[in-house]
Amino acid sequence: MKVTPAVMDVVDERLSGELQQPAADVYIITSGGVRIPAQSTVLAASSPVLESIIDRPTKHRSSEKSIPILGVPCDAVSVFVEILYSSKCNEEQMEKYGVHLLALSHVYLVPHLKQSCIKGLAKRLTIENVVDVLQLARLCDAPDLYLRCMKLLSSNFKAVEETEGWKFLQQHDPWLELDILQFMDEAESRKKRSRRHRQEQSLYLQLSEAMECLEHICTEGCTIVGPYDMQPGTKKEPCSKFSTCQGLQLLIKHFATCKKRVNGGCVRCKRMWQLLRLHSSICEESDECKVPLCRQFKLKAQLAKKKEDARWKILVKKVVAAKVLSSLSLAKRKREEEPTMNHTHPGIRSFKL
Ligand SMILES: [Zn+2]
Ligand SMILES: [Zn+2]
Ligand SMILES: [Zn+2]
Repeated sequence: MKVTPAVMDVVDERLSGELQQPAADVYIITSGGVRIPAQSTVLAASSPVLESIIDRPTKHRSSEKSIPILGVPCDAVSVFVEILYSSKCNEEQMEKYGVHLLALSHVYLVPHLKQSCIKGLAKRLTIENVVDVLQLARLCDAPDLYLRCMKLLSSNFKAVEETEGWKFLQQHDPWLELDILQFMDEAESRKKRSRRHRQEQSLYLQLSEAMECLEHICTEGCTIVGPYDMQPGTKKEPCSKFSTCQGLQLLIKHFATCKKRVNGGCVRCKRMWQLLRLHSSICEESDECKVPLCRQFKLKAQLAKKKEDARWKILVKKVVAAKVLSSLSLAKRKREEEPTMNHTHPGIRSFKL
């Protein structure tokens, strides 16, 4: 179609009819040389940067106002202007021009558009585009998006290394490459630290559970081992922590009958010995405790107070802490059970097997 003045009139009329707004008084010039007509009031209302450009005095009063927006594709600029009018960015626009729109909304200070771009780009991160988006996020001061990119990048580094974006970055932005490698290194050691922490926690929790079972076996009795003053096997039902309890009962049986004993180098007896010592370190009952050797260990600890191993003390503290934590999480469940067991048997410090 040949653009004659008559056609232009029709287009102008239709535009002003649809938008019901005054005619364009400013032109945006894109890198392709395209002039996009716009209204200065709309531009000024949505971007303080455009506002200050519009308010800047021109040399010639009569000359028409034009604002160059260069460095991004022409289509991206016209979508940007459309969005300034509608205040909305649809999925298709985001899909096609998200990267450019983020840059434009950052440079021209359009916060609502910048936020939707950050969200939109985060949703569309891929191995292929992650390096580009990362660079842009850094330039445009978008820390959330930057972090998202770093995480994706470091968990898919092998694949990202193969992309054009990464190769370009290596050649042109060694500082960012260094940042990325450092982030990955820190993420790795964070992961290791938390893995170690989890392992430690589960060990303390196991010990704390063993302590509970030990007390329960020595006061109430479980399936095969019970306190001296109780008939064995009165409780046939496995208790709630039976997997721990059963192992402990077998260990106790072994401890009572083993010929080698601790000093003979028996590993199982040594473990039992340590569990009894740990119980004594935690136990707050004085003479009423029914756990074997509890009082003896306490006396021994009192005599050698200063010599007590610092690492042993830390172990005791952590087991107590693990116990507190697990009892907090179990408190609700326990409250629903009925606490009918009597813990005040006279102090008999021996097992009945
Ligand atoms: Zn039990
Ligand atoms: Zn043994
Ligand atoms: Zn005790």
